Amino acid sequence: MKYVVVTGGVVSGLGKGVTASSIGVVLKACGLRVTSIKIDPYLNTDAGTMSPFEHGEVFVLDDGGEVDLDLGNYERFLDVTLTRDNNITTGKIYQSVLEKERKGDYLGKTVQVVPHITDAIRNWIESVSAIPVDGKVGTADVCVIELGGTVGDIESMPFIEALRQLSFSVGPDNFCLIHVSLIPVLSVVGEQKTKPTQHSVRELRALGLTPHFLACRSSQPLLEPTKEKLSQFCHVPAGNILNIHDVPNIWHIPLLLRNQNAHNSILKQLNLLDIASPPDLRDWTNMAETYDNLTNSVRIALVGKYVGLTDSYLSVMKALLHACIACSLKPSIGWIAASDLEEDSAKLTPEAHAAAWETLRNAACVLVPGGFGDRGVRGMMLAAKYARENKIPYLGICLGMQISVIEFARSVLGMERANSEEFDDPDAPDRSNHVVVFMPEGSKTHMGNTMRLGTRRTLFQTPDCITSKLYHNTEYVDERHRHRYEVNPDVIGSLEEHGLKFVGKDESGKRMEILEIPNHPFYVGVQFHPEFKSRPRRPSPLFLGLILAATRQLETYLKRA
Ligand code: GLN
Repeated sequence: MKYVVVTGGVVSGLGKGVTASSIGVVLKACGLRVTSIKIDPYLNTDAGTMSPFEHGEVFVLDDGGEVDLDLGNYERFLDVTLTRDNNITTGKIYQSVLEKERKGDYLGKTVQVVPHITDAIRNWIESVSAIPVDGKVGTADVCVIELGGTVGDIESMPFIEALRQLSFSVGPDNFCLIHVSLIPVLSVVGEQKTKPTQHSVRELRALGLTPHFLACRSSQPLLEPTKEKLSQFCHVPAGNILNIHDVPNIWHIPLLLRNQNAHNSILKQLNLLDIASPPDLRDWTNMAETYDNLTNSVRIALVGKYVGLTDSYLSVMKALLHACIACSLKPSIGWIAASDLEEDSAKLTPEAHAAAWETLRNAACVLVPGGFGDRGVRGMMLAAKYARENKIPYLGICLGMQISVIEFARSVLGMERANSEEFDDPDAPDRSNHVVVFMPEGSKTHMGNTMRLGTRRTLFQTPDCITSKLYHNTEYVDERHRHRYEVNPDVIGSLEEHGLKFVGKDESGKRMEILEIPNHPFYVGVQFHPEFKSRPRRPSPLFLGLILAATRQLETYLKRA
């Protein structure tokens, strides 16, 4: 196994994840098999309990792992299926060491960060990198490891030390360290500044790691004197100083790396030149250029709770992008904070209220993504009602589907107080009005890893529905889940009688997975999260359906399909 380790310095948010995945793409384009590991030095066991406001979306894997959103970038860029163990956290490492300590595995010994924690990290890396993630048998050629945070953080110290030991044990031919850094320009002098990078490389070297490459982030391309200075002061050959300057879209980054011959230098470092072929990035060139040249756009209203931080809905945005590109359109996303649509907001923040409704009315389609808690749910219901009544294409994902059910029960079944158990007062629950209920296998006292998570099968109940056709008339689909509540089986009968059809159910037939309203151009709710399996050249069928419906092309598409 050859390791490409990507660390970051100077500031966070440099796009280390995208850089690391792009390196993977270029190596894959050279015919190598690539896997990846993301290290998050925080203490949480996984990202499942972290707030999307603070940390961006929680990405869900096939195996139910709730992981950092960077794993989504790896899956999309490398077209692989990762496992929960491909995301290492301090929490997981300590948990495994402490479990062993309690079992008596270290009997007689003092358990310490070095060597016990660092050994656990190394073992984890070595065993997880051997898991095939591309659907083929046997291990990959290269494992790209991204270390989260910035070098020098207290939390990342044990990982840096473990990586240092790994580099020593696997030898120089099998280890390549790429340090991502920032080259700022001060407007007064207009000069590209190398000092922050010099300092962060010095910090890395003091910890025993020498970078073979620098990946320098900058707004404009690096000037030759800047490169020379970096090379001289950071002890990195000038040819190994890569530059990732700002580009119109992230699909250009693998191309940017290839244009700088990064693949050759990395392959040389890893002694892989013999088995690699010249990089074939035709697909990527095509995608990046198509995106740059799109002129027409489609307006999508995204009605959510966490709209302040676009990373909170990263996969949803990517899935919209994949679907739009397949239709030669640019997504134009109108972000709506659901609570701004509510009546209270008309009084308290009238301008925000008016703007939110204006965005909704101007949209060609409406999307209500997943979410937790009751904030904004009334606004989401208003959006769902607006889309249902005005025959505007609607896609409700997870919470968005539950919202459809509550809204329909309130407006059509006349159950004015219909609600989800999630939003009801737990001390005085109004059970007769729960159209969405807690699932028995969940836990109300423990939040981490206690939901219905990961891939589950949905069986189509009829071929005569939009979603089954969009999924090319297959009998079933396997999509990823992350929820604690479900549609109350007791109300299915009356919802269906009144026109809300459940066209997809789980294997037991008791759990509702897909709903549709037949006499509507596109009104679809899904209990799963189709966004997690969308890929650049393989858009999720449901997102594609939404965009086709928004641009009135769905009927023709379905007839042809
Ligand atoms: N809060 C809802 C539930 O737990 C929806 C979850 C989601 O949208 N991911 O069922």
